[in-house]
Amino acid sequence: MNQQRRSIPPDLIRIFSILTSSMKHKSDGTQPKRIAILGATGSIGTQALEIISANRHAYDIRGLSAHSNWKKLASIANDFKPDWLILSDASNKQSFEDALNYKPKQIDYGPEALKLMAADSSLNLILNALVGFAGFSSTYEALKSGNSVALANKESLVVGGEILTSIPGFHDRLIPVDSEHSAMWQCLVGEEMDSVEKIVITASGGPFRDFSRDMMKSITVKDALNHPNWDMGNKITIDSSTMMNKGLEIIEAHWLFGIDIDLIEPVIHPQSIIHSIIEFKDGSSKAQLGPPDMKVPIIYALSYPQRHPLNVPRLDYTKRMNLSFEPVDFIKFPCVQIAIQAVKEGGIKPAVMNAANEVAVQRFLNEEIRYIDIPVLIEKTLNKFNQKTVGSPDVLFDVDIETRKFANTLLR
Ligand code: NAD
Ligand code: MG
Repeated sequence: MNQQRRSIPPDLIRIFSILTSSMKHKSDGTQPKRIAILGATGSIGTQALEIISANRHAYDIRGLSAHSNWKKLASIANDFKPDWLILSDASNKQSFEDALNYKPKQIDYGPEALKLMAADSSLNLILNALVGFAGFSSTYEALKSGNSVALANKESLVVGGEILTSIPGFHDRLIPVDSEHSAMWQCLVGEEMDSVEKIVITASGGPFRDFSRDMMKSITVKDALNHPNWDMGNKITIDSSTMMNKGLEIIEAHWLFGIDIDLIEPVIHPQSIIHSIIEFKDGSSKAQLGPPDMKVPIIYALSYPQRHPLNVPRLDYTKRMNLSFEPVDFIKFPCVQIAIQAVKEGGIKPAVMNAANEVAVQRFLNEEIRYIDIPVLIEKTLNKFNQKTVGSPDVLFDVDIETRKFANTLLR
């Protein structure tokens, strides 16, 4: 038996396991999908659990993770009773275990456990709802092991797009959760990428769309956390206000669909009803629209390739409705082009840009730097680190650590 095994080349075994696990994801829908949610206590995680709560027959929650919010994780776990729980910040082990009303088969502490859960071959789907570069390893391990990923953690692709897209099966097994990318994905069903002329990615413009540059100087944390259309975690809310979020999403679309970065056009659409548009070479365009509710793209990623019913408000087309578009003001929102430039330069630059942005956002939230310092800090950091190729995830981890160290010394 061992002899026979040894005669099969390891690459073939890996390809076979990837193929069978991608077939696993495309199940006929008669069995509940076995899901792990990484970042279950966050905005995306919570909304996913609400959807699953209303569709318990279709989903089987096998694993949940949170970082430090042990009370919320215990409360969710007591409801869904998954076998496996992870608290990636291990500070409150005892209180957490005392708060559970059942005995899970496995409880792990610390960030390494996330990789094991992501790679667990008994799962059909990993929802990666972690925030920041902390989510990269889980996307990487899940894809490497042949698992399918519903990806909310856009930073995974921003930092490690080159590495992730080189994993066999990437395009079949990575389903976007981000609303714009879900829109693009839905518009592209049944289409060839060769037929696409460009992608129009919409942006609400955030709370400061109509601010003058002078008004931008006095923006407070409270102002920036007040998004007009979406209720999200703090990091993405700040990213949306600086429009770095659109920059990150342009990079995300570039890797997800293998499209040239210059063929992705950001446009302001303040109503957030059209979530993105695909323009084809024959002059025809497809758009996906709906009310601004993250549950719609989340359920699509969870139920794909099927569609499950969802009780969210519908658009009423019989009422007068204004759908408007305007160009992005790249001077007022420099982060969009900072992100585009980073991906054009390639190598480690997107990783540097992402880490600098994470530091800048956190330091703004801590009231250590001003709002208008965010792009300044990112640019200064980008100038410090020179380009080299990214051969492996280890390079990304080193770059992330070094960039954070440096970005934390700036503007003191
Ligand atoms: P959030 O801050 O609300 O939740 C983040 C989750 O990750 C929490 O469960 C937290 O415990 C966990 N976490 C935080 N830091 C961690 C760390 N260092 N290690 C391990 N776990 C950690 O964030 P969110 O708004 O739900 O966003 C999650 C991801 O989805 C982000 O990448 C964001 O850009 C993307 N996204 C969010 C929305 C939205 O509406 N919230 C929309 C589109 C995309
Ligand atoms: Mg988005």
